[in-house]
Amino acid sequence: SIVYLNGEYVRADEAKISVFDRGFIFGDGVYEVVPAYNRKPFRLTEHLQRLERSLQSIKLATGKTTQFWADLMQEMINRAKTDDSFIYLQITRGVAKREHIFPVPPVAPTIFCSSGPFIRPTAEQRERGIRVISGPDERWLHCDIKSVSLLGNVLARQVAAERGVDEVIQFRNDFLTEGSLSNMWVVKDGTLLAPIKNHLILEGIRYGLLATLAERAGVPFEARNITRAEVFAADEILVTSATKEVLPVLELDGAPVGNGQPGPIYRKIRAEYDKEISRL
Ligand code: PMP
Repeated sequence: SIVYLNGEYVRADEAKISVFDRGFIFGDGVYEVVPAYNRKPFRLTEHLQRLERSLQSIKLATGKTTQFWADLMQEMINRAKTDDSFIYLQITRGVAKREHIFPVPPVAPTIFCSSGPFIRPTAEQRERGIRVISGPDERWLHCDIKSVSLLGNVLARQVAAERGVDEVIQFRNDFLTEGSLSNMWVVKDGTLLAPIKNHLILEGIRYGLLATLAERAGVPFEARNITRAEVFAADEILVTSATKEVLPVLELDGAPVGNGQPGPIYRKIRAEYDKEISRL
C-alpha cells in the first residue's frame, strides 16, 4: 500500500524514518485516527480540532494549516483500497541529536499518514458485545493529549489480551477513567453517564457525539465522577471508539453486566449512531 511521508507518497515497505526521529527516541509526537465511510471522513472537523489541541499541548508548531490536514486525509481516503477506511496520521517533533529539550532551531516535523480497511462491527458483534476486565489506570496525567507515548495503554491492553478479553476498564483512585483505547459509559436508571472530560481521559470524538445522540434519543445524559461501585452496579456499560463505534460491554471481570444482553439505552444510541453515519 501507499503511505504519505514528509510530502511524498511512497510504498509502505519503502517508507523510512531516521533512528533519531524524536517519535522513535522519546515518543515525542501526536496522532489521530479518522474513520471514513463510503470515502467520506466521519467527524473530520472534530478530529482536526483535537489534532490542533494535541499539537498545541506539546508545543509542536508544524506550519501546516487545518486545510492541509483535511486535504491530506481526503487524499489518503481516495487512495484507500476500501470504501470504508481508517486514516492514521502521526506527527513527531522531527529528527535531531538525542537531547530531551526541543531542538533549537526547530527542525521539520515528521509527518506520516496511512490508510487501512475499516471493517465495521457486524450485527453479530453488536449482539455479542465486548468482554472487559477492570484494572488500575497507571498512565500519566495528560491522557487528554493524543500522544504516541502509549506504553501505559499498551501494557493495560496486553493484560486484557492475556486474560482473553477485549478491553480493560481503568480506574484511578476508584473512579472510572476510560479503556486502553476507548471511552467507557455507564447507564443507571435510564441515564447515560460519562466521566467528566479532563486531563485523565482522552476526549474521544464519540464523547461529544454520544451526548448529542443521547439528546436526540431522549436519553438523559450526565458527565460526572463515576465510582467503581457504580460501574459494577451498572444497568448497562457502553464502549466507544472510532473502530468500535458504540458497542455494549456485556461482561466485566467474568460476571454479566446487567442481564448480560444489549440493553435498551445501547439500542437507542446505536440506532442514532447508524443514522448519523447514513447522513454523511
Ligand atoms: N480513549 C483512548 C485512550 C483512546 O486511545 C481512544 C481511541 N482513540 C479513545 C478514548 C476513543 O477516541 P475516539 O472516539 O476518538 O476514537
